[in-house]
Amino acid sequence: MGGRRVPRATPPRPGVGQAAGDRSCRGIGLMLVGLVTAQRRFEMVEVPEPEPRPGTAVVHITRCGICGTDLHGFLSADPYNPAICGHEWVGSVSALGSGVTNVVEGDRVIAGIAPACGACAECRSGRSAYCVPAFLGMIGRGPLAAAHGGFAPRISIDALRLIGVPAGLCDDEAAMVEPTTVALHAVLRTRPRSDDTVVVQGCGPIGLLTLQCIRALGAGRVIAVEPDQHRRQLALASGADAVMTPDEALD
Ligand SMILES: [Zn+2]
Ligand SMILES: [Zn+2]
Repeated sequence: MGGRRVPRATPPRPGVGQAAGDRSCRGIGLMLVGLVTAQRRFEMVEVPEPEPRPGTAVVHITRCGICGTDLHGFLSADPYNPAICGHEWVGSVSALGSGVTNVVEGDRVIAGIAPACGACAECRSGRSAYCVPAFLGMIGRGPLAAAHGGFAPRISIDALRLIGVPAGLCDDEAAMVEPTTVALHAVLRTRPRSDDTVVVQGCGPIGLLTLQCIRALGAGRVIAVEPDQHRRQLALASGADAVMTPDEALD
């Protein structure tokens, strides 16, 4: 997840649903969801099984990547918004709420942001990429918002956020689509030409994805700068023409 700063929210209290006196969970199936509940604390928290509601779909999650944002949330002293704790996921639709027509049960899907509403102040001023309801839905606010992220067996989510996965992508690859969009967005802003030499500084996951996007879009030569030897090797395997350390790059 890149770009916009995500407001904080208070994570669910660990053990929700475990207490005998918790009426909200009586008679409802429970499941375990992985959440950052405090600084450097990741816990499995019991929550009610998601039910399909009007406009939502329940997705059986098969893979979920760990984003740098998740890692930052884990290390930070600030509360980490449970709705984005695990947002690089893929799964298959297992139940539909009423009114859902864009997916069917069994579809393999990933999640993006909902389409712009076309009615909020941002949309009406031509800035639909900043649509307020779409953004709020992504961060766990609004009637269709998910209460937790993808470190879970199932999730109930605004069906309009779901995007079908082509058969040619395996689940491991599909779980990488969300971070790849971060890299692709950056590359498309300065679209490389065939006679360009492009330097990628830093070869963590986003840097390596950026490198591959640059390569795929046809840059003439790609040089990766990275202090870690293993990551330099990964950069070569990902299509870099040359790799160097930051000290070598200074020369
Ligand atoms: Zn992310
Ligand atoms: Zn809008």
